[in-house]
Amino acid sequence: MKKVLVANRGEIAVRIIRACRELNLETVAVYSTADATALHIKLADQAVCIGPAPVLKSYLNQTAILTAAKLTHADAIHPGYGFLSENGEFARKCQQAGLTFIGPAADVIDLMGEKAAARKTMLAAGVPVIPGSQAEFTDAATGLAAAKKIGFPVMLKASAGGGGKGMRIIKNAADFSREFALAQNEAQNAFGNGQMYLEKYLAHPRHIEVQLLADQYGRVLAVGERDCTIQQHHQKVIEEAPAVCLLPQTRQQILQVTAQAAEKIHYVGAGTIEFLLADSEHFYFMEMNTRIQVEHPITELTSQIDLVKWQLKIAVGEHLPASSKPATGFALECRINAFSAGKITGLHLPGGYGIRVDTALYQGYLVPPNYDAMIAKIIAYGEDRLEVIQRMQAALDETVISGIQTNLDFLLQLLREPDFQTEKTDINWLDQLSLKN
Ligand code: ADP
Repeated sequence: MKKVLVANRGEIAVRIIRACRELNLETVAVYSTADATALHIKLADQAVCIGPAPVLKSYLNQTAILTAAKLTHADAIHPGYGFLSENGEFARKCQQAGLTFIGPAADVIDLMGEKAAARKTMLAAGVPVIPGSQAEFTDAATGLAAAKKIGFPVMLKASAGGGGKGMRIIKNAADFSREFALAQNEAQNAFGNGQMYLEKYLAHPRHIEVQLLADQYGRVLAVGERDCTIQQHHQKVIEEAPAVCLLPQTRQQILQVTAQAAEKIHYVGAGTIEFLLADSEHFYFMEMNTRIQVEHPITELTSQIDLVKWQLKIAVGEHLPASSKPATGFALECRINAFSAGKITGLHLPGGYGIRVDTALYQGYLVPPNYDAMIAKIIAYGEDRLEVIQRMQAALDETVISGIQTNLDFLLQLLREPDFQTEKTDINWLDQLSLKN
């Protein structure tokens, strides 16, 4: 492997290019016409325009990306997150074109991408899943009978689901048939598949996820867990590592169960298993992400493992070490989102001891209106949670991003909330909190 095409944009493209450079790998950036002045193009050795602004015509355009790889003689593709990163068909096409897809096997991507199948696979691998219906169903009567067995409230989900579509909380039997019809219709429209299943609705869960690395020889490291409970409309806003809410034995269990599951499915590369933590002891599988995640830096800081570099090293056949050290210190990440597009007229990013910023912003850059709102990640690292919260407050406070509107003030308010500081939160907390955004 000599040349890696980075099939992404923004901060993650920059992150991947940096890792490639450290490993003396050449890089090819791809970009849409809306991204002609983007930072990832400037940092890569070569760049190829793959189409116009709409993602279907550029960053999701498999043919254009594979052609770009061929033209530049790239021998590997790193998909980053989002876009084609969890597309089994694309991984398969890379392989057929003789390119190394930096990620797990296409079949594993497909398996984990199908919710009901992933749930069954995890159950068979000894991972606790949320109590729910045994089989999928397509009619309300079967669903209602299953819901009565589980006990209300229940969460109705679409087997092919994603992005919250076809998902409904149902509080009682009287609402069932109406809610079922709505959810199934939504699933049918979004995924062309009306298969549904049920889970027990968990009232106040926390979101805990485990980062793993697996090499080509069956060695798996559960690198560490993250707490991503602070979410707005199911989007993560603040992430923490380690998850301080976990009892030591629960942490040990969740790490062990993750490693065991990855081994069972012959996973290769970096991946994350997401869980809902119902109380201090009970956690349940939610989904597996077969890619690098946005919040990977907090695990890098607490584990001293460069996850993106390891993705590349695993792809060339390097062996993972026999074990990873337990997490040290504490790391917090804030996602900086833009509410408007436009030119960055002034920029001061924070720095100093224990601060890391992952971004593709620069002074004078024109933030295009076409893509993800996330424009930067500010990560603080230190001894313990309270120290790091203070470090983050100082970092956000000195940050200046002029010319566009951002959520910096919102994040500062959030960090000052007593319930956040004392962890009296659950995944619904932020949606119920009224802060000025
Ligand atoms: P999608 O893949 O469509 O985004 P998920 O299954 O990941 O759907 O669920 C989205 C969110 O809904 C989760 O992050 C969690 O916050 C919440 N959720 C999912 N299942 C349950 C459940 N059984 N009980 C309570 N909340 C749930």
